[in-house]
Amino acid sequence: MRETLLNALAILNEESGAHVDLYYAGDAGDVPFIPNALTVRFQDIRECCPTQPCPDGVVNNNPLGQASSWNCGSEGSGVAIFLKNCDGTVRDWRTSFSPGLGIMFEGVLVHEIVHAVWGILHTDAGGSSVMIPAYVQDTHNAFRHLFTIDANTIELRSGLSSRVASYTTSTTGVSWSAPQLVTSHYPERFTTVGPAIARRATLPGQSSGEVLVAWPNMDVRAWRARFGVPGSGGAFTPPASYPSNAAGRRLPVAVSYSAYGEVAVAAVGPCGAGSVHCPIHTAWSSNLGGSWVQSSIEAGFGTITRPVLEYDGYRDRFVLFFIRASDGYLYSTWRAAAPGGWWQSPVLASSHRRYRFLGGAVFHPSGAPNLLTAAQDDPDIATMHRMVQLAVNVTGGGSTYTLGSPGNLGSAFQNYRTRRPFGMAYDAGTDRTRIVWRGNNASRALFSTDRVGTGTGFFGSPVELMPNAVNSVDLTRTSSSWVATLSAL
Ligand SMILES: [Zn+2]
Repeated sequence: MRETLLNALAILNEESGAHVDLYYAGDAGDVPFIPNALTVRFQDIRECCPTQPCPDGVVNNNPLGQASSWNCGSEGSGVAIFLKNCDGTVRDWRTSFSPGLGIMFEGVLVHEIVHAVWGILHTDAGGSSVMIPAYVQDTHNAFRHLFTIDANTIELRSGLSSRVASYTTSTTGVSWSAPQLVTSHYPERFTTVGPAIARRATLPGQSSGEVLVAWPNMDVRAWRARFGVPGSGGAFTPPASYPSNAAGRRLPVAVSYSAYGEVAVAAVGPCGAGSVHCPIHTAWSSNLGGSWVQSSIEAGFGTITRPVLEYDGYRDRFVLFFIRASDGYLYSTWRAAAPGGWWQSPVLASSHRRYRFLGGAVFHPSGAPNLLTAAQDDPDIATMHRMVQLAVNVTGGGSTYTLGSPGNLGSAFQNYRTRRPFGMAYDAGTDRTRIVWRGNNASRALFSTDRVGTGTGFFGSPVELMPNAVNSVDLTRTSSSWVATLSAL
């Protein structure tokens, strides 16, 4: 139950840009509402008529859950989840993200918290919003998600205009500099969904170590991108250009550079009424965003969380991995990085496990081995959201990118866990792979760890970089340093 509640809040935070954290108060039973707090509790049955079907004139009122209409301030607010059916049997709850029959506990929690904290009312049936009354959602996984209009409302009421922070470290060191908050160079209002970052190769006549930062903008609900060179201490110079993309795109963004200066972006689009999946919009530019060629991943393959977009230099391709919203499996697609490329039809990359959040991908300059990281979400794994390494299976000029089981690389990251998208990057010069992530709800700190070599071993012990990271984190490697970006309190 506790895990599921934390997951529900992670969904709200990532999809709406709100920043709500939850601290477990213990199994306190039927506790009173607490001022300035949301209390979630569980009860057997709210109200039932004595026999089924109900006698004439008697209303069966046995919802799955109920949210108080109190003010969230001096009165506190509350959510009650009703665990049993009218006949006293326990409902067929599912507490993790797995397809099948049963009532998805997580979806019910998201629904009731949105009522209780933000006062958002029901959405009419016919779409896939979590705000459709919960009793018609039972068999659908996609119903954990917010319609974009709901997410926008939450964001405007409760989202922080969070600052983007970057961290840098020298070529091989594990000690990181103090954060460089880049609000002065990014005067826009951000969502708290973390920014994405990519490095640009050093090309003749172009700046060395330039990086691209892209993020969802709070006001225009578009993704925007800036280019700049982190100077000494990690400060970003003023951006070289400032393109903005089509309006209406507000959810997590992924970016990548090719070795020849092309840029690719993938942004998760609005989850509108009537659509089961949130579409993935893509954009490609050969002139630093002066103009963009845009397209969308084909219908039916949407996601909810930040995809991984990485350049495969050996094959000169942009490769996209994403978690399909409807089943939690990993899918992949790619396009040639050069002008004239197009995205291939997505393929099922792995049905071995289900996943909740993606980390990053590393494509080795020699073509192999290649690596993807993700946080898994699987009911038969005792440790949910454990970060794992997955082998990327592509040989030669292969036409698909599939994933091996975690066993293919021998190990997980010990037991590191996260509930947000995280970042990974590789330094070919020192053969070092580095990872940054936001801790789970018990520890919201920003952590880093690394490993030399491309074998199957553990990464090193985590290094804590800062205490309060918000939502997703990304990492890239410039010619001289590692740069992590995140939104911070
Ligand atoms: Zn409701």
